[in-house]
Amino acid sequence: MFNKIRYNSIKAELLAQNVQLILVSKTQPIASLQAAYEAGVHVMAENRVQELLKRYEELPKDIEWHLIGHLQTNKVKYIAPFVHCIHSVDSLGLLQEINKRAAQNGRKITCLLQMHIADEESKFGLSETELHTLLKDPSLATLQNIRLEGLMGMGTFTQDSQKTQAEFRQLKAIFERTKQLFPEQTQDWAQLSMGMSGDYPIAVAEGSTMVRIGSLLFG
Ligand SMILES: *Cc1c(COP(=O)(O)O)cnc(C)c1O
Repeated sequence: MFNKIRYNSIKAELLAQNVQLILVSKTQPIASLQAAYEAGVHVMAENRVQELLKRYEELPKDIEWHLIGHLQTNKVKYIAPFVHCIHSVDSLGLLQEINKRAAQNGRKITCLLQMHIADEESKFGLSETELHTLLKDPSLATLQNIRLEGLMGMGTFTQDSQKTQAEFRQLKAIFERTKQLFPEQTQDWAQLSMGMSGDYPIAVAEGSTMVRIGSLLFG
């Protein structure tokens, strides 16, 4: 079940540091999410398109939905009518498709670029070089229906907090370096989405502005 007391205490702790708390609703039963909504949670995230669509159908329409998992180009059209922010953009082609579908819906969709910071093969994301190549592409400036607001990253799944800290510090450094190198392309950059149930205090200490927390807020 949704743990309202824990949610409120983590939310207050984060608010004091200007960090946004995003409730990750994946795998939770609908009744728990309904309870979260009634307790005032109006920002939620899913990591799969199919689940996101299902939740959107089932829950009140004033929830601000974030997609935090891998997105295939051919699925953008399904979520473009309502998704608020996509944290997991990892190519220019995907940005172009999001822009096109957002335009068709008369919307502007917030996007974050996902960086690969963990040493696990399975995690998606761009390298710093790939990020800079993407930002140099002149076509980026033509995308009027997306707003690029920053970066997202996931740390390695480990108990080694020094390793996690080093990865988040590296992501923050990439964020700052990129803003210096590409001031025009990054003028709207204000978000660094990093931190989950197991590592969010480290992420916040290293400069996160948005944490994505699921399991810790249930049960
Ligand atoms: C599942 C997930 C989270 C939340 O994980 P918890 O450990 O349940 O807090 C955060 N970010 C992404 C990308 C996820 O897939």
